[in-house]
Amino acid sequence: MRISADRLSAYVRDIFVREGCAEPEAERIGRFLVAANLTGHDSHGVVRVTRYVEWLRAGEVEAGRTPEIVTDAPNFALVDAHYGFGQTAGPVAVDLGIAKARENGVAIIALRHAGHIGRIGEWAERAAAAGLVSVHFVNVAGSLLVAPFGSVERRFSTAPFAAGFPVPDSEPIILDFATSLVAEGKVLVASRGGKPLPEGALIEPDGRLSADPVTLFGPLEGVERDNQRGAGAIRAFGEHKGSGLALMCELLAGALTGSGTAGPGQRRICNGMLSIYVTPAALGTEDVLAAETRAYLDFFKSAKPMPGAEVLLPGEPERRMRAERLAEGVPLPEPVWETLLAAGRPHGLDGNAYRD
Ligand code: NAD
Repeated sequence: MRISADRLSAYVRDIFVREGCAEPEAERIGRFLVAANLTGHDSHGVVRVTRYVEWLRAGEVEAGRTPEIVTDAPNFALVDAHYGFGQTAGPVAVDLGIAKARENGVAIIALRHAGHIGRIGEWAERAAAAGLVSVHFVNVAGSLLVAPFGSVERRFSTAPFAAGFPVPDSEPIILDFATSLVAEGKVLVASRGGKPLPEGALIEPDGRLSADPVTLFGPLEGVERDNQRGAGAIRAFGEHKGSGLALMCELLAGALTGSGTAGPGQRRICNGMLSIYVTPAALGTEDVLAAETRAYLDFFKSAKPMPGAEVLLPGEPERRMRAERLAEGVPLPEPVWETLLAAGRPHGLDGNAYRD
């Protein structure tokens, strides 16, 4: 089935209002989740609603928390989300970084104890729309999912990295990926009948490679998925290099921010993010920047494609998908739509009434 982005986000908003969120927060949850679906990252879209509701009810994430600026300096700050929704803390932290970088040229913002902040490219896009270069290192405290290079045992979260680079008179470059071979949400989507995983994305305790979500979630019964039930792990991407980047994400986003690293031991689930914002004009390179960027990107795009392939800039696939899904609606596999219907039902909300 397909549903328009506006109607889908209105339905998600109404679910979270019924679950106890104030309307502006519920609206942000709906809007940012659907924004991820629009870019094609369904793993970070409305497939998460059930889990957010579980977290909210269990007190893992708290409605109505105001992010607190714990350390405040002209060009850096530490923001504590106090386990409030990432859709509330994310924009506050990013807008603070934008304001400080505009004022002082460069800013570093450490965000800790945030509920799930979703697709990190969203934040790089927000900074790029304000004309800023940005780099983001992210981790998830309490979420051991990924085996380091050379191991079969979980030591990392899926620890994403993102960077944004505004391009004068054109669309920005937005690089945004998990440092695991696949994001956990992609395993979630695959386990619910969505896109299958690439071969070897997961690893069993005996070292056998796998593409079966059971490796992560254990036996797939009902709609709930518990990533602690599977015996295996997701693999880090890029061999020793990707594994090393994941380690840096854990240290920068988990240790330096005080948010907490993925493990060891039981930890409260939250996102940490260390972000760097740069105002291009502050470096005094404006005279060459625009021309050099344009010339380089044209040169990049002119690289002869492999047979059957296309040379794309990071951010292009998401923009194309967004245009398509805004026009045609967000496609949802029936099992995902079923989880959304089930989330509305206890509140007397009929998801089907929101369909076009
Ligand atoms: P992915 O493997 O789909 O890679 C996406 C990146 O690669 C984008 O920058 C995209 O523009 C670029 N890209 C894709 N195809 C390309 C091509 N053919 N040529 C050039 N560039 C191309 O992403 P992923 O690792 O599956 O991550 C999915 C999402 O999960 C990300 O948005 C990430 O931020 C998010 N995530 C969030 C958390 C969290 O805790 N909040 C944790 C993990 C991942």
